Amino acid sequence: SEGERIAKRLARAGISSRRDAESLITDGRVRVNGKLVETPALNVFASDRIEVDGQEIPAIERTRLFLFHKPAGLVTTNRDPEGRKTVFEVLPENLPRLMTVGRLDINTEGLLLLTNDGGLSRVLELPATGWLRRYRVRVHGEVDEARLASLKEGIAVEGVFYGAVEAELERTQGTNAWLSIGLREGKNREVKNILGALGLEVTRLIRVSYGPFQLGDLPEGHVLEIKGRMLREQL
Ligand code: URA
Repeated sequence: SEGERIAKRLARAGISSRRDAESLITDGRVRVNGKLVETPALNVFASDRIEVDGQEIPAIERTRLFLFHKPAGLVTTNRDPEGRKTVFEVLPENLPRLMTVGRLDINTEGLLLLTNDGGLSRVLELPATGWLRRYRVRVHGEVDEARLASLKEGIAVEGVFYGAVEAELERTQGTNAWLSIGLREGKNREVKNILGALGLEVTRLIRVSYGPFQLGDLPEGHVLEIKGRMLREQL
């Protein structure tokens, strides 16, 4: 194997971001096989013993990435202070220790990415990754041209500016409507906040894609591992 940069290795182990790993190194806190690391350009190999502040970082498995169809009613944290059920409690057995790529609200359904690689999870959830996250949204209220135009232009809600989103009316159903919304920012509660500001109450929210990955017909509660070229292209 060709090994990898020490900063990347630390990020993959979930120790820090790649950039923060560089400061750990320049601050003299990282050792490889007992020797102080002097440059973030150092290449390390699977067999190298890496320590941060005298603590050995655990060996890591190869990077794995999974799609999960999140049902409504589960929180996306490791442990919930209010004791609500988490996504981790319903995952099939025999999976490695996983973390989520970003979060979905408790009542949001649909595509959630899971990985065992802390560095990858951090990169994929960044707005800078620029990935489109597409949602199907059921709202209560009237979706007129003016509201659609506001969504497409961007909108300020309580001091936060939400950039332009892709928005299309799919169909109306009595006093409800289904919208397709595409976001690149991934701000906290973004869909509910922007639609709420236009007087539209979100009654169902389903994420149908995240960058190149689609929910497709993956059944609720099921996981699908991304392998091969689809995975290598994201690493
Ligand atoms: N926007 C929201 O309001 N909630 C989500 O879970 C995701 C996007």
